Amino acid sequence: MADPLRAYRQRRDLDATPEPRGQAASSHEPPVFVIQEHRASTHHFDLRLETDEGVLASWAVPKGPSTDPGDKQLAIRVEDHPLDYADFEGTIPDDEYGAGSVIVWDIGPYQHRTEAGDGGRKAVSRAIADGHVTVWLEGHKLRGGYVLEQARVGGDDDNWLLIKVRDEGADARRKPTSTEPESVLSGRTLEQLGDDATDSQA
Ligand code: MN
Repeated sequence: MADPLRAYRQRRDLDATPEPRGQAASSHEPPVFVIQEHRASTHHFDLRLETDEGVLASWAVPKGPSTDPGDKQLAIRVEDHPLDYADFEGTIPDDEYGAGSVIVWDIGPYQHRTEAGDGGRKAVSRAIADGHVTVWLEGHKLRGGYVLEQARVGGDDDNWLLIKVRDEGADARRKPTSTEPESVLSGRTLEQLGDDATDSQA
């Protein structure tokens, strides 16, 4: 089987970046999702879902996740990340791929809820390949159902949409990406992390 982390490793000099090397990661039961806020050449949020293949399937969401079911947020599929990336926070040095600061904006268990035609459940890797994924997130900031839909289903189009399901976690007025900027692991904001990195290099 092809190494699902090949693209991850090829894009990075793992001796130069503090990012995880992606070795010896064990899977979680239940699986985890993470949303990392990442200030690189562009500011975005990275949504990652642990899959049955033992990687974090990943999407870059330029505007970040919304709790408003009326929003359809562009989510660009990016390379699978290793499982131990889920709690990575830090500063990727200048000149390295994705240079900039990363915090864990939200993390928690999730349930995969995409139904198969026979009423059962597909594996999440199958649902991703089929271009339609339904999940139930149990994060600190985000809760409830979200749907990820490939813009042109079944092709190799990297453009997806991230949509909040109408449920008890939906709230059109809440803007958690603005009002709750702190890391759920360290309490730091991206700005604080960036300042710390500047200080330590000075
Ligand atoms: Mn990113």
